[in-house]
Amino acid sequence: MRNPVEGKNIIVIGSGIGGLSTAILLSLLNFQVTVVEKNLLPGGLMRSYRRDGLDCPVGVHYVGALGKEEPLGIMFHALGIPVDELFIPMGQRGIIDRYIFDDLTFDLPISVDALEDSLSNAFPQDKLAMNVVMKNLREMSRQMMDPSFLFSHGNPFQDTDYYLPMGELLDSLGATAGLRAVLAVPCNLIGVPLNDCPIIFHHMVLASYLFSSWRLKENGGKMTDIFVRRFEELGGKLILNDGVKKISIANGKANGVILESDTIILANGIVAAIHPKVILKLLDKDVVRESHRRRIQGLQETEGVVAVQVQVDAAAHPVMNHNIYRLNRDENGIIHDGMFYQVQGTNSANVNLLSIITKSLYSDWNRWENTFTGKRGQEYEERKMNIAKNLLIKAEEIFGDLSGARISDVYTPLTIRDYVNAPEGACYGIMRSSHQLLKAISLNNLPLPGLCLAGQNAIAPGVMGCLFGSFNAARQIIGSERFTKEIKWDV
Ligand SMILES: Cc1cc2nc3c(=O)[nH]c(=O)nc-3n(C[C@H](O)[C@H](O)[C@H](O)COP(=O)(O)OP(=O)(O)OC[C@H]3O[C@@H](n4cnc5c(N)ncnc54)[C@H](O)[C@@H]3O)c2cc1C
Repeated sequence: MRNPVEGKNIIVIGSGIGGLSTAILLSLLNFQVTVVEKNLLPGGLMRSYRRDGLDCPVGVHYVGALGKEEPLGIMFHALGIPVDELFIPMGQRGIIDRYIFDDLTFDLPISVDALEDSLSNAFPQDKLAMNVVMKNLREMSRQMMDPSFLFSHGNPFQDTDYYLPMGELLDSLGATAGLRAVLAVPCNLIGVPLNDCPIIFHHMVLASYLFSSWRLKENGGKMTDIFVRRFEELGGKLILNDGVKKISIANGKANGVILESDTIILANGIVAAIHPKVILKLLDKDVVRESHRRRIQGLQETEGVVAVQVQVDAAAHPVMNHNIYRLNRDENGIIHDGMFYQVQGTNSANVNLLSIITKSLYSDWNRWENTFTGKRGQEYEERKMNIAKNLLIKAEEIFGDLSGARISDVYTPLTIRDYVNAPEGACYGIMRSSHQLLKAISLNNLPLPGLCLAGQNAIAPGVMGCLFGSFNAARQIIGSERFTKEIKWDV
């Protein structure tokens, strides 16, 4: 969208964190906003779900930079979302994440200085690579202190060196495989391999967690409730259980949506906080040039996951204030697979929840591609359960005896696909890799006046990436001039 929207009525498609935060921001800017969500409940991947009475996380395990004067904290403050009500800080024992490789265990600490110390101790031969990466990280942290950096002339995206893959930078600096593997983890957090992960995304992700790291105090259901409450107290309207089946056009401009129920809602502008490939399906064929349509359709997705939610004995497996990654790397430091573990409390004093996540290819599930959640049959359920049991056996290497543990739920890429309309069940949407970065960035210029993109495909995935995407959507709706004047970043 190139010109600001004229008029006050905005429709936001999708009530994930991208949609709801855009909706709040636009309400604060005095727009009349309606959010439309296909699911019965709002929140998308931000929301937790309940199994055996336990709240299980989906897409918010931990976030970075939520401190008062840190980028995500400042953006939450601008929206009026109370951080203290929702999150607790991690890392009190000096660790945010423990990365366990066959030959090395590395603890990710809080702060760039502490990371420098830890890396120097673990990889004394990597002085050159470390100096460069640390200098970059300090510069990135400095820029990120002012979250308007992405929207100002100091925007680091303008420095094309930052588009190169992190793996290439480390190659050029002669980094050892061990250092490469440790520095590959932040790339995995946005679903991109080290060798194709733009330096800028690597640094933004790592810098954000080094500012400060946080976990939900309760669950994603509560986080969603707080976002919805804030939106509704600003006069916003949320329509649930009625997805958008078509974006309507008048005089070459997006002017409304038609819902599954055939309800028509007209608006002056539309923010689509959903996957771009899904947006294409909502537009008549002749609205988007064939070459543009093919370009979007051809974009590579990030990989999916299998996630297992396990009830464990709280006395034997206490809550961990850090996450554990058990990772397998090759001789070049490339991480091919691994497991993410998080142990959190539940509403029962005797039970904790162990979440295990590992990568899973969409193609591994293609036998069930044409089925829908809850109706995939016995064989699918058995396959899921076998994978879960094997993951539980592997988890014993880390947690000891888990024979008394009980598997409460297993989800696959197909679950995520059906739940939020994510093609191939991609966790982080379209891959922000160096090789397709320009195409991915161009998604922000949707070829239709009155329509703009928000959510994880706009600027970057993750909670922080989505918030940047929401501010960027607001900028497109009101124009850069008003945005600079009216958006208050102060704490
Ligand atoms: C397993 C997993 C773990 C993750 N862990 C973390 C983490 O620890 N920290 C972090 O920062 N990020 C994490 N992420 C990423 C983060 O969850 C996402 O980047 C973010 O939640 C995406 O928000 P969104 O609003 O873009 O999309 P979504 O949450 O997918 O929301 C899109 C919404 O649009 C709705 N929708 C789709 N089509 C239509 C339609 N036609 N009409 C109406 N509504 C529609 C969907 O139902 C959905 O509610 C994780 C993701 C996954 C999958």
